[in-house]
Amino acid sequence: MKVVDTFEAARELLEGSVGLVPTMGFLHEGHLSLIEASVARAETTVVTVFVNPLQFDDGGDLDDYPRDLERDIRLAADAGASVLVAPTRDYMYPTRPRTSVMVDEVGDAMEGARRPGHFIGVATVVTKLFAGTDPDLAFFGRKDAQQLALVSTLASDLSFKVDIVGCPVIREHDGLALSSRNLRLSDDERRAATSLSAGLMQAALLVETGVVDVAEIVGAARRMADATDGVQVEYAELADAHSAVPAGELAGRRFLAIAARIGDVRLIDSITIEDGAVDRGVPLDHPSILYGGA
Ligand code: AMP
Repeated sequence: MKVVDTFEAARELLEGSVGLVPTMGFLHEGHLSLIEASVARAETTVVTVFVNPLQFDDGGDLDDYPRDLERDIRLAADAGASVLVAPTRDYMYPTRPRTSVMVDEVGDAMEGARRPGHFIGVATVVTKLFAGTDPDLAFFGRKDAQQLALVSTLASDLSFKVDIVGCPVIREHDGLALSSRNLRLSDDERRAATSLSAGLMQAALLVETGVVDVAEIVGAARRMADATDGVQVEYAELADAHSAVPAGELAGRRFLAIAARIGDVRLIDSITIEDGAVDRGVPLDHPSILYGGA
């Protein structure tokens, strides 16, 4: 695997079909599953590692975001990536950001409503990554289901030739969705955090037993987290998987998302629902590499 810090250098290394895996680094099995999906489908897999300041609405979260490029290089190489691009902030934003990308509607509810400017930052950096690497395929996790809808919309609206591929949520053995931010949870907070996925799993059971009442399903999703000390739920919402517009009924493809603060850490999780079937994601059968697992 080659490691570079500019798009110019990356483009010299691209051969055949290109799969892009954008990340903010501190890789875990969620990211590695995206890299493996890309390796299976594209001739060259490019992983980007960039903690994008534009998408942080909270400066403390940006400062505290875990970073370890040497570790990321080792993990991405082991997962089969061909190129890792780790651009500097000055390279990505040599000037004050003048041009930004805003995706109407898709970014309005849920994360967009709670994190002002977040999706403009996401859409702008993803547009730069697409322009810089010209991928045929780009891989995103369904944990960030609204982000996936937003990226699919921007790729289509801005005529990028890229196919956007959504990948399953990878979970710890107890259900917690893998996130680099989990590292900032204390032991008690880490235990409390499982209430997010536990609620989603309760909601999944209701859907699978034929319940279609959205208030009941969403209520089940947030009940565990609401009842857990130290967890402040920001929202639980059912939305259309393509438009990310909140939905009042189960029809077509939907995602059920939950977001909560646990201490200083903000976590999100989601499951995908289609025709009464639920994609819960994939639990690991061992602790993730975030917790010292193999
Ligand atoms: P991040 O580094 O958190 O910005 O995430 C980079 C990509 O990895 C995004 O497409 C995320 O949706 C995806 N991702 C993060 N965590 C997971 C997970 N637990 N399972 C699957 N994909 C994930």
